[in-house]
Amino acid sequence: MARARRRRGRNTRTLAHLAASVIIGCEYCTEFRADEYCDDVLVRLKMTEAESSRLGRHLFCPNCEYHLDVHYDLVATLTDEEIKVRRRREAWSRKYEKRFRAFHQFLLKHQTLAGFHAIGQQLSRAINLAPVATVENGSWFRARVPRRGESFGPRDFLPPDPTTVDVSVGRYNHAGQSAFYLADSQKTTAVERLGNEQGEIWIAEVTILKKLRVLDIRTMRLAEEYPDLPWCLLA
Ligand SMILES: [Zn+2]
Repeated sequence: MARARRRRGRNTRTLAHLAASVIIGCEYCTEFRADEYCDDVLVRLKMTEAESSRLGRHLFCPNCEYHLDVHYDLVATLTDEEIKVRRRREAWSRKYEKRFRAFHQFLLKHQTLAGFHAIGQQLSRAINLAPVATVENGSWFRARVPRRGESFGPRDFLPPDPTTVDVSVGRYNHAGQSAFYLADSQKTTAVERLGNEQGEIWIAEVTILKKLRVLDIRTMRLAEEYPDLPWCLLA
């Protein structure tokens, strides 16, 4: 039985999964980093000839889904440092993911009681250890999408006052909590507000006169090296 399975080799889905663990993009979506031939990268999977030809027919870029030609296309792979970071993150997930999901369920029922939950307390300690970043003085941008016929003045681009308007929940604020969302370019602020939609948008240039020191709790930095950043902030 074991021998028969060996002859058949690994199924295509498993092979595609393994390929996605070594390839992170292709030359069309990750242009500057795609410098290895697909063939040379896939050698690491130690495939039989049959496995290799099967995967070749079903190999897509994990980033943009472009159909990859194993003999022709260039691909980008993780650096050794990034592989180390990814392994740490996977180990973190194995250890904490269940508890985080439970915490999420707890928050859905009790939005304001995070501090009473063990993970909430751990997060709070982690936030205190997060790095401090400097926001340079200079021009930043803030956008608003008008409702029908609405027009805006300079004051409308200041942080909303929660005592006079309903502030909705955002990525970095609770409902009712004032937050000032700024982007470092007009394009970014427009994309943040409109996504892929077309539509009218008002953009204000906001000048920050003094450098600001802020807690840096951004997520999605898997590929960056922040050895001191608590892992529960990255999850
Ligand atoms: Zn791609």
